[in-house]
Amino acid sequence: MPLLLIDLDDTLIDRTAAFRLGVLDLLARHELPAGEVDWVVALDAEGETPRNAVAAAVIERFGLTLSVATIAESLRHGVVEHASLDDATAHALEEAGNTGWVPVIVTNGTTRQQEAKITAVGLDEIVAGWVISEAAGFAKPDREIFRIAARLVDLSLSDAWMLGDNPEKDIAGATALGIRTVWLARGRHWPHATFGPSFVADGPAEAIEHVLRGSRA
Ligand SMILES: [Mg+2]
Repeated sequence: MPLLLIDLDDTLIDRTAAFRLGVLDLLARHELPAGEVDWVVALDAEGETPRNAVAAAVIERFGLTLSVATIAESLRHGVVEHASLDDATAHALEEAGNTGWVPVIVTNGTTRQQEAKITAVGLDEIVAGWVISEAAGFAKPDREIFRIAARLVDLSLSDAWMLGDNPEKDIAGATALGIRTVWLARGRHWPHATFGPSFVADGPAEAIEHVLRGSRA
């Protein structure tokens, strides 16, 4: 059975959209202008900026009297609350499972937050398992996290595919192991001349369907 490794944030779920909706809630609660959402989204840098740093900057910019911990928790909660799995992605994942693929999520982040998102959208019912960098002790693009994912389901990496939106963490990491890859472009152009993904898709359902089509051919 072949292994289907898939990133979580901005691959299976649109974390950027969920974060934006959570920030809009936060702004509304504090009677701040909704237009400030773009500033917070830019500061967040697709989750790369530490939560406490985002929270501290938000507190300073808007003169809030809440603690960093409270705002950070509110930002985390907002993403979980607004995270969703679209039907096409859920169906593609179920079809992958039905046709012998073993889908495993490989994601960087904290166990608490990543598992909260996985269960909130019902991915825990669809995938075979997940590896989260905090618990694994290795983060993408480190090759070890992909090996841990394969060991989790007792499968080989040799027939595996990796699907993800991050050129370095997802695609370079998997390419270093010789794994075939699908990059979710999300409106971007591929940024590297020295290596590239096996396939480029617009969304997760298309990415999964490409892998399934190839295995049927
Ligand atoms: Mg991602």
